[in-house]
Amino acid sequence: MTLVLLDPTPIYKRHRCERQHRTARTFMKCAIPRAVWIQGEGEYALIAWCRVPSVMLYPTRGPAEAAKGQIDQSACGHGCTGKHEIVRVPLVGW
Ligand SMILES: [Zn+2]
Ligand SMILES: [Zn+2]
Repeated sequence: MTLVLLDPTPIYKRHRCERQHRTARTFMKCAIPRAVWIQGEGEYALIAWCRVPSVMLYPTRGPAEAAKGQIDQSACGHGCTGKHEIVRVPLVGW
């Protein structure tokens, strides 16, 4: 549990319903309905807030950071404005 407390990743709390979601994917669909795609699975979400939002999910922070480093350097796709962030998704059982 210590690792969780030390994790600096901000928790993404905003979504549009009162339910607790069981998977990060359904949470993100609820939180960002404009997202053009949601890939992967896991509670770490790399969100690109560029022309069209997109979400990539990872079970741990490491690969999410690696992917962010890549799209920070090379752009995430069409209309990239460089607004990329890593958040954690609050799920049932927290
Ligand atoms: Zn919801
Ligand atoms: Zn981008």
